[in-house]
Amino acid sequence: MFAAVVFSRWKARGAMDWDIQVCTVDQRKPRPGDEELGFGQVFTDHMFIMNYDEDCGWHDPRIVPYGPMSFEPSVASFHYGQTIFEGMKAYGCPDGRALLFRPGDNARRLNATAERMCIPSLDEELFVNAVKKTVAVDRQWIPSAPGTSLYIRPFIIATEKYLGLKPSSSYKFIIIMSPVGAYHGRGLTPTRIYVETEYVRSVRGGTGEAKTGGNYAACLKAEARAAKMGYDQVLWLDGQQRQFVEEVGSMNVFFKIGDQVITPPLGGTILAGITRDSVIKILREWGVAVKQRRISIQELAEAHESGSLQEAFGTGTAAVITPIGQLHWDGLTMDINEGQTGELTSKVYDTLLGIQTGRIEDDFGWTVEVPVGAETSG
Ligand SMILES: *Cc1c(COP(=O)(O)O)cnc(C)c1O
Repeated sequence: MFAAVVFSRWKARGAMDWDIQVCTVDQRKPRPGDEELGFGQVFTDHMFIMNYDEDCGWHDPRIVPYGPMSFEPSVASFHYGQTIFEGMKAYGCPDGRALLFRPGDNARRLNATAERMCIPSLDEELFVNAVKKTVAVDRQWIPSAPGTSLYIRPFIIATEKYLGLKPSSSYKFIIIMSPVGAYHGRGLTPTRIYVETEYVRSVRGGTGEAKTGGNYAACLKAEARAAKMGYDQVLWLDGQQRQFVEEVGSMNVFFKIGDQVITPPLGGTILAGITRDSVIKILREWGVAVKQRRISIQELAEAHESGSLQEAFGTGTAAVITPIGQLHWDGLTMDINEGQTGELTSKVYDTLLGIQTGRIEDDFGWTVEVPVGAETSG
């Protein structure tokens, strides 16, 4: 045991030297057909695991069969929510390649989240290699129908067996993967959004810009209430004045007003979406004026009233782009673009998904190929 630990630690010196052990299943599970896929319901044959403890740092990276893990009831993450995650996808291309989208950005963001939640940082190159290798091992799980993908969920949980309130001294970094269906199966369908005026998602100085479990638990109540009233998602307003727009559900949000596109700035209370950043860059490439600035719900209502609020959409890895067809705020119902998907919204969606799936030339250098044979080499 001691020898193994020392070996791993020695291996950790050079990022490229990380030796990921692979233990594969004897028999693979049957895969559901592409048309049966939902979101995050079935998982591939394997998962990646790596441990952290104070003596050795991160060590023993390995790919093992996907399955239940056992923990003592006292482990810290069950009690105080010291858990963080990422969300990304591998896309199958028409020419047979498998592409990741900006995986280095997920690595950087995981570390930014980790820093906020007192979790030790990870080697970013190891993160990307771990994702590549885990995808390569389960490559046959990447669905191929248009709009489908392999969703990748890297996460870190605190595993110290201790009820005292302090940062855990041990962690596990795990990657699980799930083939997901076409989110916009029958084309982009605009959603109806309830503007939340009672509950808030985050405040300045809080954890709103961290991808940490507690943020999502805190959102469930408002989302459940909006769903009960027949809305698809909640639009969050700022935690202090309930005035400024923040995000939609777990997506960043964009509004086309006149010939400008406006999205709330990254001020610490919203998630720095990689899709958000990509959309800003694509729009600017097209010469569209994009402003990152605070925008109040009152201003949106006035723009709607005057007819200048032309389009609205959410951005995030899961659905890529989600058109917003209606906003309901405090008794006022605002239909956007007559409840239809806007022209710019469609164009952004087609372009971004085209780049992600290798059907459109990637001039930005965002896509990263999963090497064939990576499942067997170190
Ligand atoms: C993950 C997430 C997003 C979207 O980020 P992407 O990198 O675009 O997937 C937006 N808002 C919240 C709250 C999120 O958790």
